[in-house]
Amino acid sequence: MDIELIISRLKKLYPPGKFHSPDPFRVLIATVLSQRTRDEVTDRASEKLFSKYGSATALAHADVADIEELIQEVGFYRMKAPRVKEIARIISNDFKGKVPDDMETLLSLPGVGRKTANCVLVYGFGRDAIAVDTHVHRISNRLGIVSTKTPDETELKLREVLPKKHWRSINELLVRFGRETCRPLSPRCGACSLAELCPNRGQK
Ligand code: SF4
Repeated sequence: MDIELIISRLKKLYPPGKFHSPDPFRVLIATVLSQRTRDEVTDRASEKLFSKYGSATALAHADVADIEELIQEVGFYRMKAPRVKEIARIISNDFKGKVPDDMETLLSLPGVGRKTANCVLVYGFGRDAIAVDTHVHRISNRLGIVSTKTPDETELKLREVLPKKHWRSINELLVRFGRETCRPLSPRCGACSLAELCPNRGQK
């Protein structure tokens, strides 16, 4: 498996975007909202939420019912509304309004797992970390880069086999590739630039 060849082809298809957001808090909250929700829906709901509550302190003082109304398009919004308020409260009270920039502390926040924490490290702080969502997990396995059962396992394996210089970019590359080509249910193997490198071409 030639990882360098795979990455270089993906980078040609998808030139690097903007990795580092100026606001890790927005990355954190948007990633929590994105769980089991389509990206365009997450973007709309996040925009509505942040246009009214633009900081951890502001969100910490919001009414849950108002948060629910603003984010009602996203999946499980009734569960997520009190959760993002609680995250905002902790960040406002315990971290002086600043999102922590280490994995262990991020994982201590309610509803924050490794994927969300890694997204914050990559997109909020520009750190070398591997954010494994369903696209990264699925495609890494289809391409034979890893052979794993869960996203967390995939992250640990990718940390072993993927050169560090690619850690930050792998999420964006595979998310875009997963939406356009290596889709979950009907991958477009006939139009895939990685087909001859893929042990699972045409099998899904
Ligand atoms: S050949 Fe098919 S399964 Fe393999 S990476 Fe391409 S689209 Fe995905």
